[in-house]
Amino acid sequence: MIDPERRNAYLEALGIDRWMPRQAAATPTNVIDVGDAWSELRRCVADCTRCELHRSRTQPVFGVGDPKAQWMVVGEAPGAEEDRQGEPFVGAAGQLLNAMLAAIELPRETVFIANVLKCRPPENRDPRPDEVAECLPYLHRQIEQVSPRILLAFGRFAAQNLLGTDAPLAKLRGEVHRYGAKQIPVIVTYHPAYLLRVPGDKRKAWEDLKMARQVFAELPVEA
Ligand code: URA
Repeated sequence: MIDPERRNAYLEALGIDRWMPRQAAATPTNVIDVGDAWSELRRCVADCTRCELHRSRTQPVFGVGDPKAQWMVVGEAPGAEEDRQGEPFVGAAGQLLNAMLAAIELPRETVFIANVLKCRPPENRDPRPDEVAECLPYLHRQIEQVSPRILLAFGRFAAQNLLGTDAPLAKLRGEVHRYGAKQIPVIVTYHPAYLLRVPGDKRKAWEDLKMARQVFAELPVEA
């Protein structure tokens, strides 16, 4: 449980200045051995040369967190700092992402964080459709193996590719979408990099996060 003072600091980072009712805390799952399939997937990503991005990357960014997490976060693609460190969301946007997660009582290490693209597009240009086509199967396999109870899509690019739609972000927010055969709920919100540019939308992101928390709280108890 995050102490109220720290939580308020996270909410402040989100631009939320008043106390909000607390939802039940997430139960951090222990990191457990998830076996060969996960190691094999990691190896495939580490060795991947399926698109041209492998030529300019420092390293692929597989993802980070608990491979048995109940919550999975999906972003767009590594930036310069992520490419350097080999970990998603470690730059300025990552700091805000951490604050957003902490505001709904999800310490970063209790979720699994992955991007649609595993390699950095040079100069942070937009990912190209051919790159997405080659890389998206890795994300699908990660979701299959982590088997989260809920997915959080940060930004239009993550949401559209996860859901296979070209609907704009404004249409995708505020609704519970479903992913895959298990009909995993998907909540869409703003990308933290966008929120750094447009802090006025942090309050709307907070509404999305509260909705995610609520959807999670209402999921049937697992057998
Ligand atoms: N933005 C993303 O979408 N992912 C990262 O890992 C970093 C920045």
